[in-house]
Amino acid sequence: MKTRLAGVTAALVAGAVASFVAPVAVSAPAAPAPTADGCYSWSKTLSEGASGDDVRNLQIRVAGYPGSGGSLAIDGVFGPGTKDAVVRFQQAYGLPADGVAGESTFAKIYELQDDDCSPVNFDYSELNTCNSDWSGGKLSADEAKANALVTMWKLQAMRHAMGDAAIQVNGGFRSVSCNDSVGGAPNSRHLYGDAADLGAGSQGFCALALQARDHGFGEILGPGYPGHDDHVHVAGGADTWSAPDCGL
Ligand SMILES: [Zn+2]
Repeated sequence: MKTRLAGVTAALVAGAVASFVAPVAVSAPAAPAPTADGCYSWSKTLSEGASGDDVRNLQIRVAGYPGSGGSLAIDGVFGPGTKDAVVRFQQAYGLPADGVAGESTFAKIYELQDDDCSPVNFDYSELNTCNSDWSGGKLSADEAKANALVTMWKLQAMRHAMGDAAIQVNGGFRSVSCNDSVGGAPNSRHLYGDAADLGAGSQGFCALALQARDHGFGEILGPGYPGHDDHVHVAGGADTWSAPDCGL
């Protein structure tokens, strides 16, 4: 958090408001401009045709903006789908929507992410009530945790689209033993770390289930689907949307 605030100051100094900044006494040594955030900082503008780890990190943050029924590949290649996702992200936050990730887009992402790279309104601990090290699922611990990070950014997009009301997460990743103990399906997405079970919150189950379609959740199970009258399950994976009591 402190690192991020320092980055904001650096951005102001670098901007066109030097006369405003001048009277402010800055006692700390000047930080290098590109290190703007405690989690991850982008050092250059990204647009269609770019590729690399910086693109992959961008894709994680805009994974919740693939368009209705869509899913954004986290592949480090800035193609048309990534451009469209960046445009939707920019529109969601009132930024110039040109599909180019530059200073204003990165500044908004820095504002939205904690130092552990999770979005400000969701935490790894909510996405894993099974164990502390993400082990024992169907993927490596690192892969499961990485999937949970993408899931959180999808939820952050969904939360913002629903007026920034809190979304309650009752669990996510499960090891095989955790999954067995709650009677989960043997191929449950919870074993891969990219599923989350949502409480009703102020939105209600059906609003959550219907909204999830716009944010990269290929799997949505809610009221009317067996065992899902008391929560909404959202996950990656193949398109399976079923919440009959919600018309889905
Ligand atoms: Zn579930």
